[in-house]
Parts: sequence; C-alpha cells; structure tokens
Amino acid sequence: MANKVPQRGREFSRPYRVTNGKKFRLKDVDPADTAHLESDENAKTYLERGVAILADQQQRLYAQDRWGVLLIFQAMDAAGKDGTIKHVMSGVNPQGVQVYSFKAPSTEELDHDFLWRCKKALPERGRIGIFNRSYYEDTLVVRVHPELLANTKLPESLVTTNIWEERFEDINAFERYLARNGYVILKFFLHVSKAEQKRRFLSRLDEPAKNWKFSSADAEERGHWSEYMAAYEEMIRNTASKHAPWYVVPADHKWFTRLVVASALIDALEGLDLKFPTVDAAKRRELAAVKRALENEER
Ligand code: AMP
Ligand code: MG
Repeated sequence: MANKVPQRGREFSRPYRVTNGKKFRLKDVDPADTAHLESDENAKTYLERGVAILADQQQRLYAQDRWGVLLIFQAMDAAGKDGTIKHVMSGVNPQGVQVYSFKAPSTEELDHDFLWRCKKALPERGRIGIFNRSYYEDTLVVRVHPELLANTKLPESLVTTNIWEERFEDINAFERYLARNGYVILKFFLHVSKAEQKRRFLSRLDEPAKNWKFSSADAEERGHWSEYMAAYEEMIRNTASKHAPWYVVPADHKWFTRLVVASALIDALEGLDLKFPTVDAAKRRELAAVKRALENEER
C-alpha cells in the first residue's frame, strides 16, 4: 500500500488507516509489507523515539483529564497483540493505562447484552484503555461458530439472518456515542498471513519457554482461516469510521507492526493538541504564599 518511506514517524500509520470501509478489501493489504523500511535496526530508532513521544503525550492526556483513549486490538492467534501492547506502551506511566483481555464470556456476562462487559471496562478520562479483543469478537468468533451464538441466551425471535448487520449498526452507534463523549477510539486489526502464523505456532511448540502460549484450540481456529478472514473483512467494511478508524496493520514482521501502532497513537494524541493545565492568578498567589512559608520555616 505505502510506496515510500514516510518522513515523519506519525505518518507511518496513515496508509493503513480505514475511515470508510465501503471499498475495503483485505487482499489489498500485504501482511508482509514494511513500507520499504529495510530492517529491524532502522525501526528500533523510530520506535524508541515513538515511545518517548508517547510517554510525554500520555502525561499531558492525564494532566488535562478531558479525553479518554480507547485502543482495540483484534487479530488471529499469534499475530502479535500481546507483544505489540507491551512494546508500544513500554514507556508510559502504568497508572495512566488499563489493559483488559476479553476471553470467552462468563455466565454473568452471557446474562447481559454483548456490549455490557466492555462498557464496564472503558477507561476514565485522562487514561488510555486497551482492549485485547473486544465486543468485535461477537461478530467474529461468534459468527464463525454458530453454536456460540446459540449459547448467548438471546431470545430466538431476535436471532435472524440480519443479526451481523444489526450488530455492526449497534457498534457504530455505540462508538459514535463514545466519540461524542470525549473518547478517541483507534482499532487495530493485526493482519498476519497464514504462513507466518504457522511459523509462530511451530516455534511455540518447539521452544519450551513458549509452550504455555499454545493451545490446541488455536490450531482448530486456524482451520477456519478463510471464514475468519471473511468475517474480519465484513467487520472492517461495516465499522470503519472517521471517529473510530480501523488500522489494518501488516503483522508478518513484528517490528513493523509495533511501529505502525505507535505511529497511529502518536498521530491521534498529537492531533488533540494536549496541553498541561495552567493555573490562574489566584492559584499562583496561593502557591507563592506557600513557597514563602516553606522558605521561612524554622527548621
Ligand atoms: P486468548 O486471547 O488467547 O487468551 O483467547 C481468548 C479466547 O476467548 C479466544 O479464543 C476468543 O475467541 C475467545 N473469546 C473472546 N470473546 C469471545 C466471545 N464474545 N465469545 C466467545 N469467545 C470469545
Ligand atoms: Mg490464544
């Protein structure tokens, strides 16, 4: 997609941003793309710079306490969600970030609407919330496995062939609502190829320290690859918007994935023009008085 190396770090993510999905095709994004960046080494410098910028922006976000940031990560297994979250957020103050991983829903969660558990986990203003999987699973894994839909306790008369379209509509309305309430929403689909997933699965099987990351369920999902790709494409086509864009991030090279995600976040935060709050004259006088008192204190 990208055909030249961008000059500014925040621009790395632009070619992968989808704000209107009508014409989106997954096959137009090459999972092995690196935007002509040659290697890991170049990327390291960019990423280090990016992490430092993010740390500064996050402090401002927290101090200003107006906007909330929601980052949503979706991907096939072994596409690199965990590693990307870890690396991109490595420089930010842990107090300003909250990560939620959404697993198969609990009984309590199934007793509610599909957005419920995610609504509860939204970040406060001034913070960055990260969803490792999200309500989008209810249009992905649940779509690929109809038995999961049957399991959701929805009244039968509401489960029609329109259900996915209806869910996209509800998600769009929800995200628009959040945007109008001061949430900046960025959604990342880490687009890994089937061949690269195989390599990563094999290394999880071969290296004892990685064994824990593998479950045979992952291999089973791999068997539904083309159904998942179709579901992801539909999801992006129907839920990409200006206020909640999808970034379809090439994920065969982990270093490039991290760079694009960091770049997207920087781009969004810098766009907010975040400033540290300033204090008014009365507050300044108060601070000066405290300072004088401290200085005149007898030991
Ligand atoms: P992991 O991210 O590897 O810990 O796996 C979490 C698992 O939870 C994945 O297999 C997801 O497909 C599954 N999951 C997440 N959300 C849902 C959902 N709404 N319904 C069913 N399964 C889900
Ligand atoms: Mg897994």
